[in-house]
Amino acid sequence: MPEISTLITDIYALIKRKDGWFNDALAGSFATTMAGKLQEQLGERQKTSTLRLSKMGPSCPKALWYSIHHPELAEALPPWAEIKYSYGHIIEALAIVLSKAAGHEVSGEQDAIVLDGITGHRDCVIDGCIVDVKSSSSRGFNKFKDKTLAQDDSFGYLDQLDGYVLGSHSDPLVRTKDRGYLLAIDKTLGHMCLYEHEVSHDREEALKERIRVYKEIVGSPTAPACECGVTPDGSSGNLRLDLRASYSAYKHICFPGLRTFLYAAGPVFLSKVVKRPFNKDGPIVEIDKDGNKVFTFV
Ligand code: SF4
Repeated sequence: MPEISTLITDIYALIKRKDGWFNDALAGSFATTMAGKLQEQLGERQKTSTLRLSKMGPSCPKALWYSIHHPELAEALPPWAEIKYSYGHIIEALAIVLSKAAGHEVSGEQDAIVLDGITGHRDCVIDGCIVDVKSSSSRGFNKFKDKTLAQDDSFGYLDQLDGYVLGSHSDPLVRTKDRGYLLAIDKTLGHMCLYEHEVSHDREEALKERIRVYKEIVGSPTAPACECGVTPDGSSGNLRLDLRASYSAYKHICFPGLRTFLYAAGPVFLSKVVKRPFNKDGPIVEIDKDGNKVFTFV
């Protein structure tokens, strides 16, 4: 019986073979997995939203509330971000089909998991172990490779994995009950690695407490207060959003009248503009909430 510990070396050995191992059955399996993943990214969006195991990472309470009660108010992703995420899903589907082709036992793909009333869909079970597949940038990949993800898990990957492992306790497909794995792929370089994660009693308690708190937040009829702040933008008198707010899809709700300027290092969000930002070429380009250029006379 194959062991998950040899998954990566088996995949690398498979790729080196030139004996036509990629057959019609594997092509069909890849197409089905890829279509399912792309449907999630590009298919029709649900009008209602619910708490999901995939969203159990750290979250701003106000953004969480809006994501359930008013998801339509979230800033739309730019087209290139949708393409980037779609590309990630294609790579993830490839990792699953390569696992199968390398002789590992892959089952339970996209099965629904429920923990404390919260549903999620795991990627798959490989050799009796819960596996979630993650594509990442080369920089992000280092966290998997160097085993430092637990110190900086900003996307909540381990919280999500905890949910899938804990919610699969009574599933006969899952023979390893105390840990799960992240199968990571570097989108740029094609490197793969397997990150093992033990679901300790403390992590179980922490996840269950977070589920309780998140249910309480979204169960409230009103949104929590804004937790983000602003900082001076140099000595101009302008005020810019702090880092967390800058990345928030709901920042325009917390900061009505927010203005966006495209600095060379990336967009800067100003909640107060005393002096219009300039660089050596003139006024810095301003865009509106939908990404359209704002024309102003200086
Ligand atoms: S701007 Fe800050 S407080 Fe407001 S929703 Fe976004 S992250 Fe939360």
